[in-house]
Amino acid sequence: MINFQYVRATDVADAVRQIAADPAAKFIAGGTNLIDLMKYDVERPMRLIDITRLPLKTVEETAEGGVRIGALVPNSDLAYHPLIEQRYPLLSSAILAGASQQLRNMASTGGNLLQRTRCFYFYDTATPCNKREPGSGCTAIKGINRINAILGTSENCIATHPSDMCVALAALEARVHVAGPAGERSIAFADFHRLPGDTPERDNNLQPNEIITAIELPARGFAKNYSYLKIRDRLSYAFALVSVAAALELDGGRIKEARLALGGVAHKPWRRSEAEAALRGQAGDEPALTKAADLLLRGAKGFEHNAFKIDLARRAIFRTLTQAARGTPQVQSSKKIR
Ligand SMILES: Cc1cc2nc3c(=O)[nH]c(=O)nc-3n(C[C@H](O)[C@H](O)[C@H](O)COP(=O)(O)OP(=O)(O)OC[C@H]3O[C@@H](n4cnc5c(N)ncnc54)[C@H](O)[C@@H]3O)c2cc1C
Ligand code: SF4
Repeated sequence: MINFQYVRATDVADAVRQIAADPAAKFIAGGTNLIDLMKYDVERPMRLIDITRLPLKTVEETAEGGVRIGALVPNSDLAYHPLIEQRYPLLSSAILAGASQQLRNMASTGGNLLQRTRCFYFYDTATPCNKREPGSGCTAIKGINRINAILGTSENCIATHPSDMCVALAALEARVHVAGPAGERSIAFADFHRLPGDTPERDNNLQPNEIITAIELPARGFAKNYSYLKIRDRLSYAFALVSVAAALELDGGRIKEARLALGGVAHKPWRRSEAEAALRGQAGDEPALTKAADLLLRGAKGFEHNAFKIDLARRAIFRTLTQAARGTPQVQSSKKIR
């Protein structure tokens, strides 16, 4: 473990001032990812700026009929918040599919977006990794790549984004509110995370001197017809091999609006407008769901150990859409723990 300084930010403006003044500093929220990365010598911040006392812990309705979630709301509080359980159960379900109750108690909303990949080689400092050390190479492409991506990969990196919560936020078309030295701005969720391309070291479009202050959900919550299905090696405490968030709005037995996002398959939650468009106006029968799955997975490419994900994803999409259309969402095993 490296030596580092520890300081607390007193308010958002102070947090921005401190992070902008020191390129070797990092914010710390729940610490559930950052501390692990420091122990593995993957991240080496010289200064930790504790943001846990900032007033970013509320979940409030917005004037536009949506909900604004403070960046420091713990994942458990968010999953069990009445506004989220009732109006955005897809989000609640996705959060409860992740990690463990103890981790969800510590993990923050903002930190969940910024958690880093679980690619084995990213954590193994004895091996080349373009994300950890740009230009060094990608060991996963010819290595053990069972957990890696099948969509949106580049010759420089085939890592996935590991979050469950983000898959639901992508389907719900959330916005990310941030503050920096130039003021405040908001980023559409689809534009927040990046594909690896030639710069796999950059996971997202947040600037190093910016802080996430909130996530905003639009009014439409798809509370009747939704499902989050996570396929993993163990039933708890494991990251998704493939996960699917499906949200539908039905009208007279036909699909009026559809959202479909995949986790565990790409460097960001994976959506394609053509797949969602193909579902609109359909009755939700097998050919329509199969076509949507094919469109969402178009161009998928497997590597030596993860080609199985393509068929797994196709079946998972079909099942999740069927659950959503029938109004019988996947029940998460941790749902009962409060
Ligand atoms: C064993 C284990 C299993 C897990 N399983 C899952 C799982 O199945 N599904 C899943 O989705 N997640 C899982 N997680 C990940 C967990 O959800 C994340 O570690 C957590 O959400 C990160 O939040 P945090 O507040 O602890 O972030 P921290 O570790 O404090 O910070 C993470 C990063 O975000 C930055 N940061 C934090 N908050 C802000 C902010 N407001 N603005 C700007 N930067 C910020 C920090 O500087 C750091 O770079 C697992 C974690 C562990 C350890
Ligand atoms: S897939 Fe990405 S994170 Fe994994 S070894 Fe390759 S460059 Fe590193």
